[in-house]
Amino acid sequence: MRPEAVAAMAPFLSERFANPSGAHVAARQARRAVDDARDVVAECLGCRPGEVVFTGSGTEADNLAVLGPVRRAGGGAGRAVGSAIEHHAVLHCVEHLDGRVVGVDATGTVDLDALVPALDPGVVVVTVMLANNEVGTVQPLAEVVALVRQHAPSAVVHTDAVQAFAWLDVAALAADCDLVAVSAHKFGGPKGVGALVVRAGVELEPLVFGGGQERDRRSGTHNVAGIAAMAEAIRATVCERDATEARVRALRDRLVDGLVTSVEACTETVPRSRKVAANAHVCIEGVESEALLYLLEREGVLAAAGSSCASGAMEPSHVLTAMGVPKERALGAVRLSLGVTTTEADVERALAVVPPAVARLRG
Ligand code: PLP
Repeated sequence: MRPEAVAAMAPFLSERFANPSGAHVAARQARRAVDDARDVVAECLGCRPGEVVFTGSGTEADNLAVLGPVRRAGGGAGRAVGSAIEHHAVLHCVEHLDGRVVGVDATGTVDLDALVPALDPGVVVVTVMLANNEVGTVQPLAEVVALVRQHAPSAVVHTDAVQAFAWLDVAALAADCDLVAVSAHKFGGPKGVGALVVRAGVELEPLVFGGGQERDRRSGTHNVAGIAAMAEAIRATVCERDATEARVRALRDRLVDGLVTSVEACTETVPRSRKVAANAHVCIEGVESEALLYLLEREGVLAAAGSSCASGAMEPSHVLTAMGVPKERALGAVRLSLGVTTTEADVERALAVVPPAVARLRG
């Protein structure tokens, strides 16, 4: 977490612990803290304060965005449409609603030609993420919105901007979306706090019923400490975003260039011009990523695989499968994520550790 976010939480975990829904003076102070945080979050997301719904996670914000409008419209198959590389917080909702899943090309970019036939007038929500969490691909959101307005004018557009916010100007890029989800722990805030932008006029059924908080869209006592910390984190992120993005992009480029030149049969999964700065994703042929991750972890380099063990056999992720990455490449997929705190020394360490580990596995 960003230190300013940690500091922002502390008072609400101790002397300012009141419930903002109460009526007494301490409650009113807590409510003011939530309102102040809402103003900051709204400004950073390019919406009005009344359009921010605080949630308990990015997952909950995504669920509300996809399930909420469809349930309000009375449900029914084919009423939600989403891309095949959505995070499971979105994809499982689309599948749960018997929605339609639209394919992507080899770079993980949604296939706009395949999107059009899915956009019939009965569609209620179309959901395409801004940046993918696994391979980093940034989606052509403006084109998606234009197609939806043309072919399914009564549908709302949701974007999962959880992975995008730290690196991209989400307020501008998602300005025409009706629903936008973010999650505090992806930009230096705490885990367990998210927000959904619900533009004025968008109708949705709540997922959580109770005391009517968040204008009846999300009941439950506010996580005041988490919300206050989210506001500090989002403010700092926006202030520093351009400079941080450029620095991290340069580090990422050094890392990927170094891997591709020093490891044989190691290729970038998606061209870096198509993706967010923090994502380094390569496929290393002839190694199983799980085995490589184990060796890297012993050297203090923590990475993620592009495949996981399903019923005893390694299976490529749904993202790599949708992109059509051949299984032999996908099984050697490795993601090294950079962050705000990543240094040159971290990158050099990774570059010193990965080639011998691959050589050992191939040996
Ligand atoms: N969407 C994307 C793209 C994500 O990467 C994640 C988390 O990794 C989520 C949604 C879920 O957010 P949360 O961890 O806050 O539930």
